[in-house]
Amino acid sequence: MIEISFVSAFKDNYIWLLSDGQRAFVVDPGDAAPVIARLDALGLSLAGILITHHHADHQGGIAALLQRWQPVVFAPASESITGCTHPLAGGECIDVLGQSIDVLAVPGHTLGHLAYSLPGALFCGDTLFGAGCGRLFEGTPAQMADSLERLAALPDDTLIYCAHEYTEANLRFAQALEPGSPVLAARCARVADLRSAGLPSVPSTLAEEKATNPFLRCDDPALIAVAQANAAVNAEKVSVFTTLRGMRNNFQ
Ligand code: ZN
Ligand code: FE
Repeated sequence: MIEISFVSAFKDNYIWLLSDGQRAFVVDPGDAAPVIARLDALGLSLAGILITHHHADHQGGIAALLQRWQPVVFAPASESITGCTHPLAGGECIDVLGQSIDVLAVPGHTLGHLAYSLPGALFCGDTLFGAGCGRLFEGTPAQMADSLERLAALPDDTLIYCAHEYTEANLRFAQALEPGSPVLAARCARVADLRSAGLPSVPSTLAEEKATNPFLRCDDPALIAVAQANAAVNAEKVSVFTTLRGMRNNFQ
């Protein structure tokens, strides 16, 4: 039985920690110090690291963790990752603390970006966020739209373990697109309560994202209308996605 918890890092990163009570895996350890402190406090040894993509806030802690333990390091084959022992391209099934995890290629934020999927949980790095999605640093809008569409096909009750606490800012954008949406208003209220209590707004469920995340709703008539009023050349999902992502880049 795997337990999932988080370690906070930097301003708004979450480093997810998977544990079987004795051994642990961490996802995207951008910073080693808080991970080492938590593992020591829990009496866990680090058995492995899962990396979604090469950005420093996701892999910057690997080197220091390797000085303390000898974890396996699963990471995108096409990206430069410190200490990678198991290069992955997507499509693999890997063993994590006795649990099999599917590796998904989700290019867009970066070209080699991976997501890790187990029953009921998805670790998606900077691809899908609470009420938003990652910036397109390397991939095309079509690649990101396709990646998000494949994530959206997972079961509705899948918990979305993303790598940043961006939900409130993302919801402000979502509400600007759809000011009258009652489901968005309800999610904003829930997230505001959590954040003011010092709690994370994540993980959310995929069902919640499909109801409120504009980037998973590019076929919704209201969002098609907003996109077409701005720049979308047609009502195709990719065109709507491209326009909404561009609007998000320029928001506030
Ligand atoms: Zn990133
Ligand atoms: Fe990041």
